[in-house]
Amino acid sequence: MRTHTQSRKSKQRELVLKVLNATRSHPDAEWIYEQARKEMPSISLGTVYRNLRLLKERGEVLEIPSGTSGSRFDATVENHYHLRCLSCGVVVDVDIPVRDDIDHDVERITGLPVSHHRLEFMGLCPGCRPQRTAS
Ligand code: ZN
Ligand code: MN
Repeated sequence: MRTHTQSRKSKQRELVLKVLNATRSHPDAEWIYEQARKEMPSISLGTVYRNLRLLKERGEVLEIPSGTSGSRFDATVENHYHLRCLSCGVVVDVDIPVRDDIDHDVERITGLPVSHHRLEFMGLCPGCRPQRTAS
C-alpha cells in the first residue's frame, strides 16, 4: 500500500544514493556512511552496505572492486574508464570515449557474445608522483 510518508527504508536508500551522487571521488562504504550520518545520525554502517548492494543490483550504482582495500562506489553507471593510483588507491574518471570496437573484436575471436567490458588504468596521481629534483 502506498502512503504519503516515505518509508524509513526508502529514505535511507535515497540518502545513500544522494551522498554518492554528490561526489566524483569514488568513495568506499565507510566514507559514504560518515557523510550519511550527518543527515541521518541513526543510520548504521550495515545499512549503508546493504543499500549499496541493493542499489548495485538495481543498476543504480557501480561497484569498483579494490582488492584488499574494499570496494569503491560510483553513481555513474554508464560504461566509462578509471585510473587508479598505485600508491594511495585514489580512483578518478578517465574522460575518453568507450571503445565499443574491442567488444566486437573479442566476440569475433571467442565466438561469444560480449555485453560490455571494464577497463582500468594504473599509474600515480599528482600527489603521489615523486618530485623531480632540478639537475
Ligand atoms: Zn596517489
Ligand atoms: Mn567513475
